[in-house]
Amino acid sequence: MEQYYIRRIRKFCNGRCNVARLFLNTIKRKIGYLAVENIKNIDNSVFIVPSEKTGELYEVNISLGCCTCENGRLGSFCKHQGAVYFFYGEKLPNMPPVTPESRHSMAILAFGENALPISFYDSLECNPSIEKTEDKNTFNNPYEYQNV
Ligand SMILES: [Zn+2]
Repeated sequence: MEQYYIRRIRKFCNGRCNVARLFLNTIKRKIGYLAVENIKNIDNSVFIVPSEKTGELYEVNISLGCCTCENGRLGSFCKHQGAVYFFYGEKLPNMPPVTPESRHSMAILAFGENALPISFYDSLECNPSIEKTEDKNTFNNPYEYQNV
């Protein structure tokens, strides 16, 4: 039984399970009606996102991972939460586990200390968030190239 779970987690970690990624792509298509100007950040962790059909305003709390819409109230990852993720880059606790960090966490769960480093689980696609991190590191270490 343990081997069964290890195999399933390994499949997920190695990116061969597309369910979470496809779900996030669906959310991305559904937020086509929104622009960054439509979303208001009223608190560190609270965003106001308008509804697509009624124009009603929903409150997304990114630290709790919930929304005041019908789906979000029940704990689902709704398109309003997705909008905050895509427009502001905020990660929510209940979002689909598609980031290298979440895959690495699963790898640690499955393989313990034999888990590969987080860089192994990086996306093979060009990822702007990783580029930003690299830029930031370069900025923080301005003498890096001079010492070489
Ligand atoms: Zn919602």
